[in-house]
Amino acid sequence: MDLNTIEAVVPTADPARWRPGDAWLAGGTVLFSYGSDTLRRLLDLGRAGWEPVTVSDDGIDLAATCTIATLYRLPDSPGLAGRWPALELVRPCCDSFVASFKIWNMSTVGGNICTSLPAGPMTSLCAGLDGVAAILSPDGTRRALPVAQLVTGDGSNVLEPGELLRSIRLPAHALAARTAFRRLSLSNLGRSGVLLIGRLDAGGGFVLTVTASTKRPVQLRFGAAAAPGPRDLAEALDAAIEPALYHDDIHGLPAWRRDMTYRLAEEIRAELLSERSA
Ligand SMILES: Cc1cc2nc3c(=O)[nH]c(=O)nc-3n(C[C@H](O)[C@H](O)[C@H](O)COP(=O)(O)OP(=O)(O)OC[C@H]3O[C@@H](n4cnc5c(N)ncnc54)[C@H](O)[C@@H]3O)c2cc1C
Repeated sequence: MDLNTIEAVVPTADPARWRPGDAWLAGGTVLFSYGSDTLRRLLDLGRAGWEPVTVSDDGIDLAATCTIATLYRLPDSPGLAGRWPALELVRPCCDSFVASFKIWNMSTVGGNICTSLPAGPMTSLCAGLDGVAAILSPDGTRRALPVAQLVTGDGSNVLEPGELLRSIRLPAHALAARTAFRRLSLSNLGRSGVLLIGRLDAGGGFVLTVTASTKRPVQLRFGAAAAPGPRDLAEALDAAIEPALYHDDIHGLPAWRRDMTYRLAEEIRAELLSERSA
């Protein structure tokens, strides 16, 4: 779609250059699909030159500009195969996009998180793995924020005007965890209606991240000494998700999303904690 109000496309990744009427341009699959009549300039991250993926003993840094296609190849990268069990989440999350060739090759991890749709699979992946976002501000400061707290609602997030999502750190402790993934959609190739990720950390802690069914990510955490049974888990979901937080759009009614959240959460609990329960 043409953006008729755009006066300039500026290749930059410097937040100091941001001014009202600007938008960061990553893959452009949202900006050029939905349009805007208020934007004046696009600040093009395409030539930022950020390394898409950086691996260290502390974990993995994903540049905001890392494309879905690049991320999909990550589990097969030299030295990574078999190193971190939680990398098995990468492909199901990428596959959760309703992805055309364009989306797959152009859209970015950061663009997906900043779009902040409930069904944003990069939000699911990064929140589920305790990802921490590095955010650069126009005033030159930098802050870090868990991805689970960055997205605050359907299409809303905590980013202030001009703030730039630079990268997401996936910490080694989460990458070393055993994980379970569940996703449901109303149709085979439909947008996610429910997407849950469970994690059993090396220390025995259990973390459940609910996305897609809720307007923003919801995380439940249980210490090693407090592994939940079915009733505990249901009560924790009751407490964490008020009815109005279930998302309501063409991809699923809130009542269905709620029911499926409880069902998939229990499946994940049983899968990851069954040995312990026994
Ligand atoms: C056919 C189709 C199917 C789709 N399916 C899905 C789906 O299943 N799930 C889903 O979540 N989305 C879906 N989308 C929406 C969209 O394609 C994705 O959310 C995509 O990941 C957005 O990434 P992008 O890099 O193209 O973002 P862009 O279009 O470049 O940017 C999107 C927004 O994020 C801002 N932004 C981008 N990068 C940054 C950054 N680093 N820092 C700060 N702000 C930034 C931009 O200014 C803009 O407001 C779909 C779109 C289409 C057209």
